[in-house]
Amino acid sequence: MRIGEHLYLVGSEQFGLSHPLDCNCYLIDGGSALALVDTGFGLGVDDILANMQADGFDPARLTHILITHAHYGHFGGAAELRERTGAQIGGPALGADILRDPYLEPGMRYNIKFDRYPPGFEAHACPPDFVFDDGDTFAVGDISLKVIVVQGHTKDSTCFLFEDGGKRGLLTGDVVFYGGKLGLLNLEGFSMDDYRRDIHKLTDLGVDMLLPGHSVFVLRRGQSHIRRAAHKLGDFVMPETFFETNEFMWERDYLKVMSE
Ligand SMILES: [Zn+2]
Repeated sequence: MRIGEHLYLVGSEQFGLSHPLDCNCYLIDGGSALALVDTGFGLGVDDILANMQADGFDPARLTHILITHAHYGHFGGAAELRERTGAQIGGPALGADILRDPYLEPGMRYNIKFDRYPPGFEAHACPPDFVFDDGDTFAVGDISLKVIVVQGHTKDSTCFLFEDGGKRGLLTGDVVFYGGKLGLLNLEGFSMDDYRRDIHKLTDLGVDMLLPGHSVFVLRRGQSHIRRAAHKLGDFVMPETFFETNEFMWERDYLKVMSE
């Protein structure tokens, strides 16, 4: 689904593009290079490749698989996608251990404990071919991505800033969502102190397109959603978490119905 001049959404639970456990998976067309940002859980790989093809891209042209943070719903498909396309996996330096051994991912312990994964689930490691860290910039063909690490949701949470057709886009992973909601969790690696310390990195970017890892994206006035998030982090009242209103995603009966 084309959403920008060189930007596509090719996987997503909420937009009905791939498996119910998939995050939003964005495709950036840099001309000579193609990057997939996040891969979903791994059960939507066929859908993601079919969506790429429907948008006019031969999956064999994929060069980069970029992971915003080491939560399994964002990188579970990376190993298979690398195998089927030949693309290189780039992950956050601070999440590389988990990409190498996904059973270290703290949320996975809870999801197994609460029986939220499909029967026969096995996690797939995806050792990164390269890693990136805060302040790095790298090219996907003609498009340059700036790496901004905003800790809070996790220690490795990465946003990518880029320009597309005169608009400024920010891929936010689980850092900031529509309406300024935040990725607050009761989970190891999460920290309100980190969020409060790092949110300023996003407050002055003039973002048009806010492209979160789940649910609604916006193509204009993205910065206003970030402003609301920063405003809430500047107060002492606990901000809203995206994951509360979307907890249905994690309910077993929802998953069962949606996967049939
Ligand atoms: Zn996450």
